[in-house]
Amino acid sequence: MTQLEQFIQDTAIVNTHEHLVKEDAWTAAGQAQTGPDIVSELFSGYLSSDLLTAGATPEAVEAATTPTGIDIAKRFEGIREAWEMSQLTGYGEAARITAKLVYGMDRITGDALEAAQDVSKANRVPGRRHSLLSETGNIDHVQIDDFVRPCEPDPSGLDFFLYDLSWVSFCQGAVEVPEILEQVGVEVKDVATYREAVTAIFQRWGPTAIAVKTQHAYGRTLRWTEQTDADAAKVLAKVLAEKPVSQDELDCLGDWGFARGIEQAMQHNLPIKIHTGYYAGNRSMIVDRIRPGHLAPLLIKYPDAKFVLMHIGYPYEDEIIALAKHFPNVYVDMCWAWSIDPYASCRFVRKMIHAAPINRLFGFGGDTFCPSASVGYAMQARAWLNRALQAEIDQGLLSEDQAIQLAERFMRANQLSCFDLNGTRAAIHAAAAAPA
Ligand SMILES: [Zn+2]
Repeated sequence: MTQLEQFIQDTAIVNTHEHLVKEDAWTAAGQAQTGPDIVSELFSGYLSSDLLTAGATPEAVEAATTPTGIDIAKRFEGIREAWEMSQLTGYGEAARITAKLVYGMDRITGDALEAAQDVSKANRVPGRRHSLLSETGNIDHVQIDDFVRPCEPDPSGLDFFLYDLSWVSFCQGAVEVPEILEQVGVEVKDVATYREAVTAIFQRWGPTAIAVKTQHAYGRTLRWTEQTDADAAKVLAKVLAEKPVSQDELDCLGDWGFARGIEQAMQHNLPIKIHTGYYAGNRSMIVDRIRPGHLAPLLIKYPDAKFVLMHIGYPYEDEIIALAKHFPNVYVDMCWAWSIDPYASCRFVRKMIHAAPINRLFGFGGDTFCPSASVGYAMQARAWLNRALQAEIDQGLLSEDQAIQLAERFMRANQLSCFDLNGTRAAIHAAAAAPA
């Protein structure tokens, strides 16, 4: 093993993006009759999309990925051919790594899955979710988008499981009137009260959030235009009256709501994470609207915000590199990228090193619901980061010492200087100690 490889293995990696299930849901499945289930743990999530693309029937994928705890080999048999077609993809590779590291399987076969089903059950105990990530995965801490605004302390790891404040509905022009009223006591009736609600939401959860997160690129274009209160007010009135609105009108209200969130995020020292590029799933991606370059007007408008552009904008990696080089308020996050396209990610790291300053890049996030999958993704990221940096050494572009310094930056140092970990953790501990 080279010194570089050893360093990468031994270094606790910061995981800036997951959607992990909570401790109670994770352990409850250990007690439930219907789970846990090794076939669903290994093949649901992103890999199921490759299986469908490879030709598996939706019924077979559904049967394999629905946790039942029974018919393990039979359910695997339904997707076996598609698995053989997909095992070399990034998702397939990550599943093979998880199978080996978490379940002790040398090869994924029906018999091996049957035999490892007990491991799956044994993992569904309190604290194991934490130790899988922190010990097996050697992960420093995890930043989780659980799709909601509340960022409450997670007692299964106050310092370890940190949460993003979800801002996606505001960016989509979807106004969640009853939820907002319940959460912060503000009834949204017009632009003034909508603005008041934004402030109240950040007052309540800004301190305990590690970042703000939005994935509105799944439902609309990333193109952003500054909107006036008057224009937003017109659309808001229609939305509140449940009158029909066009996508352009929703984008107007969404752009306005996004801007108000960014202003609050700046006040609360929160980086703003934005999904750019590739879509999870199948048969839904419209490649033009996911381009990270659409965000340029936003990046110009808010020079003092911290924008974290996620997933390397795949397949528009070069646009992200250009943005990262040009805008001092842009960070680039490789979360999910290694498993989408490991070679593109390798190239991306190497190009970033020689195009943008080295303090702009975050190296890892698994972007998964399942902690055991996250372990596989973390090891996959390490292996490919090592390949990228080793290739630089082999071509005489970096010394090994320089490569090690870069690994340290991309795995943790850049993240630790961007996110306010101390402030967030202090607020989480205070909130956890406060009487309910
Ligand atoms: Zn995600």
